[in-house]
Amino acid sequence: MNYAYLYLIAILLIMSLYLRRYYRRHQDDIATLEEAVQSGLAEPPSLHPVINSSHCSCIGSGACAAACPEEAIGVINGKMTLKNAAACIGHGACLAACPVDAITLVFGTENRGIDIPNISPDFETNVPGIFIAGELGGMGLIRKAAQQGREAMAAIRKKLGKHSADYDVVIVGCGPAGLSAGLSAIHHKLRYKLIEQEDSLGGAVYHYPRQKIAMTAPFELDLVGKVKFSEVQKEKLIDFWTDIVKKTGLKISFRERMESIEKDNGRFAVTTNRGSYTARTVLLAMGRRGTPRKLEVPGEESAKVTYRLIDPAQYRGQAVLVVGGGDSALEAAIALSQEQGTDVILSYRSAAFSRVKQKNRLLLEQQQKAGRIRVLLNSNVRSIDDKLVVIETDGIPQRYRNDAVIVCAGGLLPTPLLQKIGIQFDTKFGSA
Ligand SMILES: Cc1cc2nc3c(=O)[nH]c(=O)nc-3n(C[C@H](O)[C@H](O)[C@H](O)COP(=O)(O)OP(=O)(O)OC[C@H]3O[C@@H](n4cnc5c(N)ncnc54)[C@H](O)[C@@H]3O)c2cc1C
Ligand code: SF4
Repeated sequence: MNYAYLYLIAILLIMSLYLRRYYRRHQDDIATLEEAVQSGLAEPPSLHPVINSSHCSCIGSGACAAACPEEAIGVINGKMTLKNAAACIGHGACLAACPVDAITLVFGTENRGIDIPNISPDFETNVPGIFIAGELGGMGLIRKAAQQGREAMAAIRKKLGKHSADYDVVIVGCGPAGLSAGLSAIHHKLRYKLIEQEDSLGGAVYHYPRQKIAMTAPFELDLVGKVKFSEVQKEKLIDFWTDIVKKTGLKISFRERMESIEKDNGRFAVTTNRGSYTARTVLLAMGRRGTPRKLEVPGEESAKVTYRLIDPAQYRGQAVLVVGGGDSALEAAIALSQEQGTDVILSYRSAAFSRVKQKNRLLLEQQQKAGRIRVLLNSNVRSIDDKLVVIETDGIPQRYRNDAVIVCAGGLLPTPLLQKIGIQFDTKFGSA
C-alpha cells in the first residue's frame, strides 16, 4: 500500500515538472512570437514550414521545434508555429522530424510574395543558354546549392553550341553553388570565368555570424569527391573551400560584379564592373542576398568603407561610422561600442528605427545612455574623406572624425536585373 503511494507521488511529481516545463516553454514561445510581430519581423524570408491542412493535422508533439537548429519554431496552443520567422532558412529539418507528416514547405506568404524563376529540370531558364543554380532558383541549403552547381554544369556541357566566344561559360557568384560549378567546369574541361562581387568565396556562409555551426549533409564535389561534413563551424568550411581552390587551381575573379547580360549573336555579352566578356552560356549562382546597397557618395570607393562587420575587435581605438537602421546596423554599432576605445556613430536617414528586434533597441538605448554610441536620426552621409566624414542631420552638414565606415543599408535584389535579361519569374504566395 505504502509503495502505491510512493509511485503515485513520483508520478505526480514528474507530471507537475513536465507541465511546468511545458508552460514555461509555451510562454517563451509566445513572447518570441510577440517580439517578432512587434518588430515587423514575422514574415519568413523564403522557403518555410506551414501546417499541411490537406492531409494530417498537427498533434503538437514538438518534434519540429526540437529539430529546428535555428530555433525558429515553437508550439503555441498545441500547434506548430513559426515563432521567429526571420530566422527560418528553409532547410526542412522540421518537415523530416514531424511524426504525422503535418508540415509542408512553401515559398512566400499571403502578405509577401516571393519571386521564383522558371527553370527546367536541367536548370535552364526560359532564356536558352542562361542557367540558374542554388538558392536563386528557390532552394536554399549548402548541400543542395553545391549539388545543383555540379548538375547544372553537366547540363551546360551538353548545350554549349558552336558560336565563338571568350568563354564556354561565365559563372556569376562563388557561394556553394558557384564554387561547385567552377570545379565541375574544370572537370569537364570547359573554358570558364568565375566572378564574385565580394572579396571572399563562400556566399551566404561568409556572412554567417562568427563561429556559427552550419548543419549540412554529405555532398559530392567534382575533383574533390564526397564532402562528409554534418555539422561544421563557418570558419572551418570557408578554410576547407579555400584549400580546395588552392589544390585545384580554380580561378576566381573577386570584387567583380556582373552588371548586365545581353544576347549577342547566339552568345552572351556579360558586362561587369571590370570589363566585358562574351560567353556561350551563363550560370547564375547569385543566391538571393543581392548586392549591398551603396550610399553613392564621394569617397565611397575608399578601402575604409565596407558593407559588413566581420570582426569588431579589428576596430579597437577607432572612430567608426555605421550607416543603416535595420537589425544588422544596430547589431554592428552595439558590437563596436563594446570594443575598447571605439567612438561609434550610427547614422540613419529616417526619424525612428521601426523594423528592429526589441533586444537590439534596448541594447542601443543602453549604449547611447552610457555615451558609447551617438545616434544621428534624420541624417544622410554626404562625403567620406581619409580622416573624416560629412553627415547632414536635419539639413545641417557637420564633419566628424572617422577611421572606418560600415554600411548596413540592405541589399538590392537580383530580380530586376534578371527580368531585364528576359528571365521569367513566378510570384509564390505561400505555395510549394
Ligand atoms: C544565417 C543563415 C544561416 C544558414 N544556415 C545554414 C545551415 O546551417 N545549413 C545549410 O545548409 N544552409 C544554411 N543556410 C543557407 C545557405 O547558406 C544558402 O542556401 C547557400 O549558401 C546558398 O548557396 P548559393 O551558392 O546558391 O548562394 P549564396 O551562398 O548566396 O552565394 C551567392 C554568391 O553570389 C555573389 N553574387 C551575387 N550577385 C552577384 C553579382 N551580380 N556579381 C557577382 N557575384 C554576385 C554573392 O556575393 C555570393 O557570394 C543559412 C543561411 C543563412 C542566411
Ligand atoms: S525549415 Fe529549418 S529553419 Fe525553418 S523552421 Fe524548419 S527546421 Fe527550422
